[in-house]
Amino acid sequence: MTELVVPGGFRGRPGTVYALGRNYAEHAREMNAAAEPVVFLKPASSLLPGGGRVPWPRGSALVHHEVELVLLLGAGGRDLSPADAAQAIAGVAIGVDLTARDLQDEAKKKSAPWARSKGFAGAAPVSAFAPRTAVADWGALDLSLTVDGAVRQSDRASSMILAPPAIVAQLSRWFALEPGDIVFTGTPAGVGPLQPGQEVAAHCAALGLSVTFAMDAPAGD
Ligand code: MG
Repeated sequence: MTELVVPGGFRGRPGTVYALGRNYAEHAREMNAAAEPVVFLKPASSLLPGGGRVPWPRGSALVHHEVELVLLLGAGGRDLSPADAAQAIAGVAIGVDLTARDLQDEAKKKSAPWARSKGFAGAAPVSAFAPRTAVADWGALDLSLTVDGAVRQSDRASSMILAPPAIVAQLSRWFALEPGDIVFTGTPAGVGPLQPGQEVAAHCAALGLSVTFAMDAPAGD
């Protein structure tokens, strides 16, 4: 895994990738789930900085896009105050929490972990990181996703149940956070399936960030 860089700030290898589920009420509704954020992990090897080609995950026939704002921590700690949690965020990117929805649904039915559905190689395309100091108002950050140019998801961070500093503060109550850790902050409504070869682009216009990728066809094994 290459180093992640925040201009004028953090530089280093990615650590643990935390991901929030159900952090936008409207998306929770479309999943028939309670609007109460949950946390899961994606392996650092699922990160795909700069996008590109994503190998189709083995055993899946249904991959969904979930566009998300992504945080990179420059400092860690436990039980951070909201102010310290905000300061711990070094950079912000736009990314996609790719999800093998059929494998996830199967796992949910069995009360089994989601790891396979969320952790395959390339399951986390991310843009370059903008410095957190470029963010004047978290709620004003936009996030959107297009598939072959058609808008599938579009919202603002003001729709989040937990805003980014609150997410980091909450995570620090449950985990020992470290510099280099990444946080996927949850997806707004509009998730849906991807076909191999479609051009997928995620944008945060407020920070001038974007990342583009395409799924490869299934290998047939
Ligand atoms: Mg997600």
